[in-house]
Amino acid sequence: MTKVLIIYTGGTIGMVNDKATGVLRPLDFAHIHENVPELKRLPYQITVHSFNEIIDSSNMSPAIWVELATLVEENYDLYDGFVILHGSDTMAFTASALSFMLEGLNKPVIFTGSQLPIGEIRTDAKENLITALEIASAKLNGKARVPEVCIYFDFQLFRGNRAFKYNSAKFEAFRSPNYPVLAEAGVHLRYNDASIRKCDDCIFKVHKRLVNSITVLKLYPGISKETVSAIVNSKTEAIILETFGAGNTMTEKWFLDCLESAIKGGKVILDISQCKVGTVELGRYETSRDLKNMGVVSGFDMTYEAAVTKLMFLLGRGYTLDRLARLLETNLRGELSKTPLAVPAKSVF
Ligand code: ASP
Repeated sequence: MTKVLIIYTGGTIGMVNDKATGVLRPLDFAHIHENVPELKRLPYQITVHSFNEIIDSSNMSPAIWVELATLVEENYDLYDGFVILHGSDTMAFTASALSFMLEGLNKPVIFTGSQLPIGEIRTDAKENLITALEIASAKLNGKARVPEVCIYFDFQLFRGNRAFKYNSAKFEAFRSPNYPVLAEAGVHLRYNDASIRKCDDCIFKVHKRLVNSITVLKLYPGISKETVSAIVNSKTEAIILETFGAGNTMTEKWFLDCLESAIKGGKVILDISQCKVGTVELGRYETSRDLKNMGVVSGFDMTYEAAVTKLMFLLGRGYTLDRLARLLETNLRGELSKTPLAVPAKSVF
């Protein structure tokens, strides 16, 4: 019998409205179970591991990512797939982090949650949970059909390190415009097998060292020299530069000099775009030519979430600056494409 491990971390899915304060607060898994009697009717064996401290995912941390990766590692041979119940606010960060930490993964690790608590009549939680379980147990020719870290939400399955939360008001909370959805649930559950990563001969290995020595410089017209210099010269090893359009920045000398001296001082600067669709193309415009020449690294079409967690993962590996820069520009877990999609991916069906 197929076996799935549910790991419950918290999030709206299991929350209730506290009568005294009126705020939503997380509750234990028994509460979820009571509201989904269907779980007993599913044709696979489900085990639940609930975190001791159930959290709103705004309190997520790299230490918990390590805990999650360790849980998957310890249970890897015992289960066919994993479903992680998680708040949607930082779900894309956790899914991205795990995609890097779980090297050579060949079993599904499916994140899901909901926008309305499971006890509410109009909840989206039941469908999300039940279909996530189905995906986590799905097989094709005796092998896992989706051996990836994914997010399942509102009838769509996304690669975890390509998705981001874009809507806090709709059930359709996630998007992945730079990569096609991996499956769509309707009357049938239709898999986009051609876009799913397979790792048949891979050796599963878990990386648990994450280094958060990162700062973020999000550009805007009029940003001051003091602000740029305070961020660039802060005591971190890496800077994520959130740029305009295809990776462009202002070309004022003080700005470029500030970045160049940081690189010469041993920092890595990773350029990702403020645009959600498309890719960084260093050197395409005059406004990115100098960045390329001074050694700014291209994040191509990576999400912010993937950029943050990839840096934490690679900094944790202790690579030389050259190797770090090269690996940042390399597609490690399907998180970036060097030949971007011509048309934004909404659906492939
Ligand atoms: N604040 C909640 C969380 O991320 C939102 C959600 O679960 O959707 O934990």
